[in-house]
Amino acid sequence: MSALSPATPDRRDRALEVLLARDLEPIVDMVGWSPAPDLYEVASADGSVRFRREAGRADAFVVEAVAGKNPLALQDQTHFVGLGAERATPHPRRDQNSYPNGFEQFAQLFDHPSAPDLCVIHSASHYWGDQGGHLGEHGSLGVVQARAPFIVAGAGVAKLGMVELGCRLIDVAPTVLGLLGVVPADGRLLSAQDGVVVEPVLGEPGAARHLIGLLWDGANANVLYDLARRGVAPNVARLIADGTTLRHGALASLPTVTLANHTGILTGAHPGHHGILHNAWVDRASGQQVVTNSPSTWATSMQWLNPTVETLHHAVKRRIPGARTASINEPCDAGADYSTFGLVRNGERPMPPPGPDDLPDATARFVRPHKDYRWASRTDHSAVDQFLGVWGGDAVPPAFTWVNFTLTDSAFHEGGPYSEMAESAVRDSDARLGRILEAVERAGVFEDCAFFLVADHGMEESDPEVGGDWDRALAEAGVPCRDEGYGFLYLTGG
Ligand SMILES: [Zn+2]
Repeated sequence: MSALSPATPDRRDRALEVLLARDLEPIVDMVGWSPAPDLYEVASADGSVRFRREAGRADAFVVEAVAGKNPLALQDQTHFVGLGAERATPHPRRDQNSYPNGFEQFAQLFDHPSAPDLCVIHSASHYWGDQGGHLGEHGSLGVVQARAPFIVAGAGVAKLGMVELGCRLIDVAPTVLGLLGVVPADGRLLSAQDGVVVEPVLGEPGAARHLIGLLWDGANANVLYDLARRGVAPNVARLIADGTTLRHGALASLPTVTLANHTGILTGAHPGHHGILHNAWVDRASGQQVVTNSPSTWATSMQWLNPTVETLHHAVKRRIPGARTASINEPCDAGADYSTFGLVRNGERPMPPPGPDDLPDATARFVRPHKDYRWASRTDHSAVDQFLGVWGGDAVPPAFTWVNFTLTDSAFHEGGPYSEMAESAVRDSDARLGRILEAVERAGVFEDCAFFLVADHGMEESDPEVGGDWDRALAEAGVPCRDEGYGFLYLTGG
């Protein structure tokens, strides 16, 4: 392997000709690229937009040209808010969909030195038959795939209930740090922060002595809020009642996939800036494939984190000298004192989870026949066990504890976001949340704790009728490329 240079305009145009052809339109929503620094183009089968970043401004953009229909015409975060609105337009077409912060989303991605030549955004309906096929999907720029829930509760939090507000996942870290103390005038609380403090969430800054962050991977915000309202998730409902919940959600950064956004939540920075660009990409310097989000690489994936980027663990310890922090079942664990993957790196193992017959809080009809549901239930059970270990005993509980739960992602993928399986995953996860809340009560510091619950991306119902694969079309047209993480195209060959 040797270094991989950016593609020439000719090669890029040949690939675009294939990707933007009408026959791929059902699966290719749009394609983005950066022809020159701070200049970007995004094109679909029926139009394109060219925009540039304003000099010296990370998040201000000027449209230079539109041809045909602007694929990023609607960037409204209030689009499809509420489960009824979301379900009224299943598999929205491009002209029915919204792409919030679309300019910033593409621009941040191309700031990474190993950004792809072309970023392909799959359509809302695309069913990845060739990749196993899931009834629930994410990864795109569309608002349903990007929208995660954001619930903040407890000490120091304003008690506003469900509010008509939204933010981005990169705003989560600075906002929750604001609960631990006074926010500096410039709002900067982390070294590489792209996000801002969501001020309305802050009630009494400094009132929280312990932060507890919970990630429910892939939990669709509209679905989760609806299940909490309907009594399926009483512990989530308890958090909602005891704080502030952003009804418009917190939007994942592009690509709206797992490890890029776990890291975004924990650093306040976009993937193009914190370094964990995708679940997989090509390191252009070496030409090697980088895989971060896989069981064999979770423990070492933070070698790709930009070393100047602070996590919440670093930032909490900077705010509270002498504080300890814990990171449970989370690959993005830089700076944590207790870490599940830290144990793995040391050749140790956290306590193995019990077999499926001995799992509490696990819906039997899904745990038995569904391999992913079973694996995720055991993994999440082990997360609760680790939490009880970290929070038990006589030691002062950690100032920040982060717990990554994975069952919601498995079930929302396999069954789709509106399925019985997804609902069961929320019910099971809620029971695990209940055991965490009980452990905090037992420790006698519940009144000093702030809790936040997020996901790393949304989940949208795909359409099994809309299959197909642009990689095959590119190969048939003789356009050599490497497609990493699905949708990151690196053009190779002459
Ligand atoms: Zn995920």
